Amino acid sequence: MYSYRAPLRDFRFVVHEVLDFEDRYRSYGRDDLTHDLLEGILEEGARFAETVLAPTNRIGDEHGLGFENGNIVTPPGFREAYLRYCEDGWSTMTADPQWGGQGLPGGFSLAFSEMLVSGNMAWKMYSGLTESAAATLAAHGNDELKQRYLPRMVSGEWSGTMCLTESHSGTDLGLLRTKAEPQADGSFLVTGTKIFISCGDHDLTSNIVHLVLARTPDAPPGTKGISLFLVPKFKVDAKGAPGAANGVSCGSIEHKMGIHASPTCVMHFNDSAGWLIGKANEGLACMFTMMNHARLGVGLQGQGLSELAWQAAISYANERLQGRSLSGVKAPDRPADPIIVHPDVRRMLLTQKALVEGGRVLCFLTGREIDSSHLNPDLEERRRSAELVAFLTPIVKAFLTDAAMEVTSLAVQVHGGHGFIRETGVEQLMRDARITPIYEGTNGIQAMDLLGRKVFGTGGKSQQAVAKRIRDTIARFEGVAEVAHFCEVLGKRVDAWDKLTAQIGAAALRNPDEVGAAASDYLQFSGYVCMGWCWLAAVGVAVPKIAAGEGDEDFYRAKVVTAAHFFDRILPRADAHAAAARAGASGLMSLPAEHFQIA
Ligand SMILES: Cc1cc2nc3c(=O)[nH]c(=O)nc-3n(C[C@H](O)[C@H](O)[C@H](O)COP(=O)(O)OP(=O)(O)OC[C@H]3O[C@@H](n4cnc5c(N)ncnc54)[C@H](O)[C@@H]3O)c2cc1C
Repeated sequence: MYSYRAPLRDFRFVVHEVLDFEDRYRSYGRDDLTHDLLEGILEEGARFAETVLAPTNRIGDEHGLGFENGNIVTPPGFREAYLRYCEDGWSTMTADPQWGGQGLPGGFSLAFSEMLVSGNMAWKMYSGLTESAAATLAAHGNDELKQRYLPRMVSGEWSGTMCLTESHSGTDLGLLRTKAEPQADGSFLVTGTKIFISCGDHDLTSNIVHLVLARTPDAPPGTKGISLFLVPKFKVDAKGAPGAANGVSCGSIEHKMGIHASPTCVMHFNDSAGWLIGKANEGLACMFTMMNHARLGVGLQGQGLSELAWQAAISYANERLQGRSLSGVKAPDRPADPIIVHPDVRRMLLTQKALVEGGRVLCFLTGREIDSSHLNPDLEERRRSAELVAFLTPIVKAFLTDAAMEVTSLAVQVHGGHGFIRETGVEQLMRDARITPIYEGTNGIQAMDLLGRKVFGTGGKSQQAVAKRIRDTIARFEGVAEVAHFCEVLGKRVDAWDKLTAQIGAAALRNPDEVGAAASDYLQFSGYVCMGWCWLAAVGVAVPKIAAGEGDEDFYRAKVVTAAHFFDRILPRADAHAAAARAGASGLMSLPAEHFQIA
């Protein structure tokens, strides 16, 4: 059974060396965001994730949740870990000081969030949803609601949820039916049933603040008639203390493939008092604050699980003795060599390493640019950062969660038959990862968002802007012999990306189905190109470090070798996706419907 060690050296590489957090944030006038501060978060965060959280991960999976008289009981150790998390102030890290937060930008919490997911993804969902709900309330709520709820959500005393899904209304939120009747005092009575609500009920906090999408009586049909309401589990009195029950109940919890310790609840709202967040009928726009926050969070879930799966795989590959190396015995004193000597096992491990480390740069780059879009004093830079974030968000969500499926599956494969057996614990990672391509908008929907809204919605400009950034990075390395090959193979794909975008755009003018037919392959293509950009930035740091001979040469050389694996063995997958994306809609849509029916 593996254990989790926070990858501190790689976090340092990404935040200090590749993405230059310190200089970036200082240029925003945030001199308080120092190297030492970030180091403190890394060190202490690692201690929390490794020693407090990771020991609860297996217990949570095995033990699952109790459900007694409508109340959910979290697995042993969850409450203690949660209290410690709050006492140590982790919940307040990125919130506004006005509400009791420490005011750190989101970028400073990325590494910590990844560590929490690796430590225990199911546990992390409780606090992760609260952060997203608090951010949405802070962005769109009125002062009274903020004063009443935010301090306690920020401290972790109360938690938050997002209640969108209904049994007949999943991807298509325009179908939702939950009602909100206006009352004379300005509040609403919310009635309806939501399903699949993560952390809809539990015993970690004394109140739960639900953000619920519902319709007012005069609302227009479809997505234009959806409003967002704050509905607490317990009503809150004028002094802010939770009082009477508010007609909110958990009808049942789902029995799931993975994340067994995260309650997925059927939630009933029965004339529950609710308060409008933002304007009536603009609920979906408000909820997008939460969804974008959560989409990066789900990408980070993929990332954290991938890291853990890679750690499990390398531990096992070093221990398991099977066969002899084809190029000569490596462990003559043992009955067989460890499986890490076999090229095919190396292929699996290096593929994991390339996706994990490349994914980390992609994720953290997106987080850094989110901060730039709010904090950068240069307004044009803010706009460029926001444009990049909009483009990268569906890629981070979908590409990194698909990568997590591959990386966790490879971990099982490296373990052979033992990977399929519960005892080794790696099958849990694959089961836990499986939800990440589904929730927060399925990966198919992310792909439509990327190609339909982000690319064609800007007349192709957003893709051209990212392609230009990548070409600028390539140009920076002109004449650097060690990266010339990487620049060449990446540059070729960036050119192909431009052509592919134009080809699909032209086809879509003739037939709107072309966008849906190409979207998933287009997203994969874009993901590989963007990850290639990240790998180029990483080797762009590593190569001069090796030349300067400043130490840590092994680490930097490993970066160059892993980059070569990415560029030569993983990036070529993009070409197959381009061919599939170009194949068009007719092949998908021409088979008459009866061929999809059981005779
Ligand atoms: C463990 C878990 C936790 C969850 N947590 C929450 C939560 O906290 N809050 C919440 O509100 N919801 C939550 N959900 C719900 C989740 O977000 C939805 O399951 C998801 O959005 C998909 O909706 P659906 O299941 O109804 O699938 P459907 O919408 O029925 O989709 C089925 C398939 O059809 C595809 N599809 C649907 N429409 C289109 C289209 N227009 N174009 C192309 N393809 C399409 C989808 O990609 C998918 O492959 C959770 C779900 C699970 C399983």
